[in-house]
Amino acid sequence: MNNPLIYSTTPRNGNPETQRWQALDAAHHLHPFSDAASLNAKGSRVITKGDGVYLYDSEGHKIFDAMSGLWCVNVGYGRKELADAAYQQMMELPFYNTFFKTTHPPVVELSELVTKVAPQGFNHIFYTNSGSEGNDTVIRMVRHYWACLGQPKKKVIISRTNAYHGSTIGGASLSGMNYMHEQGDLPIPGIAHIEQPYWYANGGELSPEEYGIKAARALENKILELGVENVAAFIGEPVQGAGGIIIPPTTYWPEIQRICGHYGILLIADEVICGFGRTGEWFGSDYYGIKPHLMTIAKGLSSGYMPIGGVLVHDSIAEVLMEAGDFNHGFTYSGHPVACAVAAANIRLLQRERIIEKMKSDVMPYAHQRWHDAFDDHPLVDDVRCLGYFFAVTLVEEKASRKRFAHGDALALQCRDVCFKNNLIMRATNDSMISAPPLIMTRKQVDEFVDLARRCIDEFQEQLARR
Ligand SMILES: *Cc1c(COP(=O)(O)O)cnc(C)c1O
Repeated sequence: MNNPLIYSTTPRNGNPETQRWQALDAAHHLHPFSDAASLNAKGSRVITKGDGVYLYDSEGHKIFDAMSGLWCVNVGYGRKELADAAYQQMMELPFYNTFFKTTHPPVVELSELVTKVAPQGFNHIFYTNSGSEGNDTVIRMVRHYWACLGQPKKKVIISRTNAYHGSTIGGASLSGMNYMHEQGDLPIPGIAHIEQPYWYANGGELSPEEYGIKAARALENKILELGVENVAAFIGEPVQGAGGIIIPPTTYWPEIQRICGHYGILLIADEVICGFGRTGEWFGSDYYGIKPHLMTIAKGLSSGYMPIGGVLVHDSIAEVLMEAGDFNHGFTYSGHPVACAVAAANIRLLQRERIIEKMKSDVMPYAHQRWHDAFDDHPLVDDVRCLGYFFAVTLVEEKASRKRFAHGDALALQCRDVCFKNNLIMRATNDSMISAPPLIMTRKQVDEFVDLARRCIDEFQEQLARR
């Protein structure tokens, strides 16, 4: 970071293509989750290349991608063997479906690889193209499962506020974001939400452990309120990602597990972010010792090199489904050969380079230490937290009383802009600054990431002080 070439913040405007791309982007491209007017007024930043933990824009700036794309590029950018896998598969068999009594080598190989690294008892996968489709599949699968057992009334899936489960109608309904529900009359019927296990915001005078039990009991209360005969399942991200990296108290998941078991409802782990190493284990369920019935996967499954997702199905559920005749569900690209070949190459890479094991035993403890050293006594932030390669801080007005800013969301977005200007990609969620870097950071890159994050938050603090 002493290298001015790397973290230069002066626009170079050296590339005549930049303006053309920005103009075409503004003219024809509708961006997800974006305010088109303000985006187009400034122009999108054009990202042209990725290498390891870095991105490059069309002006030649080198950017530290501390979000792994969108929580997905776990093995980093520029992995030739993933590109080779795609090329070879495209030449051999670019597409065939698995609807009508056929299969193909990539889907078979990938299924074996994934079920081998998955927790015990997960021996089947249903494929989708994304996490959202995975969770839509979950909704249909869970309801079909209970119908197969003669309990078609068991339909309601209980989720949580601030959960993120995708953007399709089903995924957005499971999600717990008001700003998504406000558009288009969501959630659909049969989805209920309980409080998220967010001690810092909701714990009050309780200890985190006491609060974890209380937050989990909200599930029991909701089951009793709705009637257990109507409740099909509970769904949760082991660590809430897009909701702001909410790490539940240690007591939370065991109590959720107990409640699901006691009432005989299914437990679904949305592993779209937590899966494939993010927590330092293969799955978030491994990290917490959760025993789910279904696990949604996507993102890290292919490290984002190809769109692919799916639902891992526990034997106890798969047995029922496989005896029940057709499951009338599937996507043209379920088990797409190229996506499967790339995902398989990604898993082999994770295994061969022992990426998760190395991260967990070596760089991760160092990274956690550095994160806490950088922010624990920073006056502008509190709830300094990390787990695996999740890192976050919350902007606060006063630490002692856990007092948050009245317009913390807006401040966090401004803080994100400071990061972006300084060529660091972090995200702002509510009043938290969050990060999920690739799993392949070296210690030197950890230093670079943490020093840069600290400098950006310092710079933002100075901006605030001047107002
Ligand atoms: C990103 C995400 C999804 C949705 O995945 P898409 O591939 O964007 O459809 C679902 N669940 C979680 C936990 C996610 O982070």
